[in-house]
Amino acid sequence: MPIPQGRITVCETVNHMHREVDNARMSGQTIGCVPTMGYLHEGHASLIREAANKHPFVVVSIFVNPTQFGPSEDFERYPRDLERDMALLRQAGATHLFLPSVHEMYPDGVQSSIHIDGVTEVLEGAARPTHFDGVATVVSKLFQAMKPDEAFFGQKDLQQTLVIKKLVATSAESCVRETRITVLPTIRESDGLAMSSRNVYLSLEHRSQATIIYRTLCAACDAIRSGETRGTAIEDLMRDQLASVPNISIDYAVAVDAETLRSSTTEFIGPVALCIAVRLGTTRLIDNMLVEPPTA
Ligand code: AMP
Repeated sequence: MPIPQGRITVCETVNHMHREVDNARMSGQTIGCVPTMGYLHEGHASLIREAANKHPFVVVSIFVNPTQFGPSEDFERYPRDLERDMALLRQAGATHLFLPSVHEMYPDGVQSSIHIDGVTEVLEGAARPTHFDGVATVVSKLFQAMKPDEAFFGQKDLQQTLVIKKLVATSAESCVRETRITVLPTIRESDGLAMSSRNVYLSLEHRSQATIIYRTLCAACDAIRSGETRGTAIEDLMRDQLASVPNISIDYAVAVDAETLRSSTTEFIGPVALCIAVRLGTTRLIDNMLVEPPTA
């Protein structure tokens, strides 16, 4: 299929981004935005296509944000390929790329950060203590740069979507508070593995073992739909299935309330989020599914 050659305007500074957005607004356009860290894949493309269906001005940001990586994490080796990303941006229908440097986003270094309470203490927040402060801080800065009407995020990072919704609900900045947040489904490879820029790190053996994550989530969904209401039973099932892969290291495998991400001490009473984080070799993978118990 020929690649459509849509022209992408690249903005490397906040000032340039503001000029583009302000001109577009003056001509009556609405702004859709998709924040990313680049090394784009079909999961990102699904967000960009939906943004392009709804908005004439679609800005994708590519920024590998240092403040959301822990000291021993993969910031330096995070995969980058701008040329390939540009081709995907054109195909998916983006009109603008916001591509700031670290200095542009943090001109005075990291002098302050935003902390969101309530949804950040568990799961990814427990495993990566400074991660969500970095996410909330950078998303607030990105929204102030791109001033979107609507921003698109993937359910793949379920806890991140809750953090961002709370950021928007509590922000004092009008362009953050007025951004509509839309969450779209996780896009998967044909064998069920959730697409992720980090999948490129997997060895062939780990890549084939990684399908256990999807199979485990499906098995747990089936058990809940068949009437299992005890969180502990679901979590035992998930851990047993994951442990069928030798040398997998399980960070967490939990069945939690989909809104609070807390374990229920009794039986499920509403929508359940099944959340998994594992390590295969040095690669950390996360995935989740939402399921409605038949009694809910
Ligand atoms: P990232 O570049 O990993 O920071 O992701 C940028 C956005 O793409 C986030 O909103 C992610 O949740 C979303 N995303 C990443 N992987 C997928 C996927 N497999 N399906 C749908 N959205 C995704």
